[in-house]
Amino acid sequence: MTGGTRSLKGLRRGNKEAVLFLLLREGEMSRVRIAANTGLTTASVTQLVKELMSEGLVTESGEVARGAAGRRETLLRFEGDRIAAVGVNVESDLTHVSLCTWGEVLAEEIYPTPEFFAHGIDRLGERVKALAAGCGKRRCVGTGVAVAGIADEKNGVSVKSYGIFPDGYPLAEELSRRTGLETALINNVRAQARALIAGKEDSFMLVKHAPGIGCAVISDLSVVAGAAGRAGEIGHTVVREGGEPCRCGKRGCLEAYVSEKHIKALYLSKTGVELPIEEIYDRYGSDDAAEEILEECVRLIALSVGNAAMLLNPVRVLTTGGIFSRTALFDALCKAVDRAGFGGAFALSRVGDDAKLKAFSGARHIMLERVFGV
Ligand SMILES: [Zn+2]
Repeated sequence: MTGGTRSLKGLRRGNKEAVLFLLLREGEMSRVRIAANTGLTTASVTQLVKELMSEGLVTESGEVARGAAGRRETLLRFEGDRIAAVGVNVESDLTHVSLCTWGEVLAEEIYPTPEFFAHGIDRLGERVKALAAGCGKRRCVGTGVAVAGIADEKNGVSVKSYGIFPDGYPLAEELSRRTGLETALINNVRAQARALIAGKEDSFMLVKHAPGIGCAVISDLSVVAGAAGRAGEIGHTVVREGGEPCRCGKRGCLEAYVSEKHIKALYLSKTGVELPIEEIYDRYGSDDAAEEILEECVRLIALSVGNAAMLLNPVRVLTTGGIFSRTALFDALCKAVDRAGFGGAFALSRVGDDAKLKAFSGARHIMLERVFGV
């Protein structure tokens, strides 16, 4: 019987991950304070830190005097540069492939999705291998793939990606076979939300716009999954019964009204002019047609996001991408949230660096899972 040994080892691994995650979130900390924060004995912490230091993941960073006696305690720091992972973020328009340490994007490549996957995932396999070669002496954790649509995260299967991969495609297994790297799969919006977990907040909602609209809910550090792992599908909540057809097969979904494809089509039908989406956003405030279309999008998003936040009670709602990337439109969203009566119910803010979040998302997902046990 090896069960006992295995569970002891499992427990030990869990503690090591917990210590590392604490250092990641709280910054520098002494052994005594780690023990107080984790409930572990100082002897256990000393042993775990020794192991983490031998792996290069933790270093001693200085001393601090504590208490009336001014007892000196050595501070410990998580070395985010010692681990690296390849991150892949696949959305219907663009695919980001990157090599990241915990805190830095070392290299990034961006491809138009339809062309990149025109002949399956061989090209992706090549690029992942090439980027992974840049890990150098760092511990290469593997590849984290964030993909739009419905993902079976446990089995690494892209269940439905709305035209990017065949339905039920075992993406993680196929990519791992081509690269020889451990590969984890996750829905893209969830990956982007998980990438933000390292911050101080542990209960928030991330709403992502462009090309469609999606949402992920983090509650007490975990992604809220729902019965079939589909929680957070704000884009497919119905805002108009029997309304516009949606790519999911239903009618009247929020996404059918606020997707970039719909915004462009509406602008074309109103003005007879075909414009890139960025330009339509830029015309908000100076072009009546753009203003009318975008105001309506913002109004619908404000209602849906406000309703979702009332149900889920997050500390904060964070937004990223598309319509939210323009300050004037984000301000319009805040006003629409207030107008709808949700003002003060939750804090609303922007992620800021949307492109960096995409670059980090897949890589951070697999690092959180394999290194921090989160
Ligand atoms: Zn839908």
